[in-house]
Amino acid sequence: MTAARTVAEAIRAATELLGSRTDSARLDAELLMAEALGVRRSDLFLRHMREPEPAGFAELVARRAAHEPVAYIRGHQEFFGLPFMVTRDVLIPRGDSETLVEAALAAVPQAARVLDCGTGSGALLLAVLNELPQARGIGIDRSEPAVAVARANATRLGLGERARMIRADWHEPGWSDNLGGPFDLILANPPYVEEDAALDPTVRDHEPAGALFAGPDGLDDYRVLVPQLPPLLGEQGVALVEIGSTQTDAVTAIGAAAGLSALLHKDLGERPRVLEFK
Ligand code: GLN
Repeated sequence: MTAARTVAEAIRAATELLGSRTDSARLDAELLMAEALGVRRSDLFLRHMREPEPAGFAELVARRAAHEPVAYIRGHQEFFGLPFMVTRDVLIPRGDSETLVEAALAAVPQAARVLDCGTGSGALLLAVLNELPQARGIGIDRSEPAVAVARANATRLGLGERARMIRADWHEPGWSDNLGGPFDLILANPPYVEEDAALDPTVRDHEPAGALFAGPDGLDDYRVLVPQLPPLLGEQGVALVEIGSTQTDAVTAIGAAAGLSALLHKDLGERPRVLEFK
């Protein structure tokens, strides 16, 4: 019977079970326990360790053991200090992408007009707007369910007045005609993974393929999107594009062919992560 276990014991057992599946077993177990109890993770240690294990915990752990990401199980993920609702329709915001927000805040005027291409959960656009109270922006995504998630996040974060989320796809002619540019800042975290890349099953089997994969070399979306950026950029405008750590030269060349110069930003792990185009 598991009913007699304490929270502490249940976390220990879950950590052991998840240890063969993930490097973050202890953290995952704690986050799932906090979810099952409906408390913050920090409160677990202060108050709950000696209580009986809550009824729903085992099921959450079983889902994680089947490689479902913790963020989808919990339904939310923190990004740039803000809580974002996430569903299986959107990529889970990554810490690496905070590099893009940092670069944006260093590059643009307070009252920036912002376009986020492939907004997903809305994380990039909404993090920037939250830091710049006079800025406004548009997030686009080709996935209607993703647009709905982005819109919900804008509302929940109190940014609904300054963020418009709409369905648009840079593969379709005329996609940018009604966006009302030019923009001071364009953000993009497009799909950039090679089709046959060996991804962790937590990513490959659960996150939306349309947000990850971009042809045999992962460059298909850059080839289509980047050449369309110059007419959307204002005089002093910059475009910040997330890249895979091996794609610096290839994406720089795609920009150069479109008349854009590139500046590289690295992430906290010192890997190439963002190209700043102007
Ligand atoms: N960084 C993500 C990953 O490796 C990929 C994000 C993307 O394709 N835009 O899982």
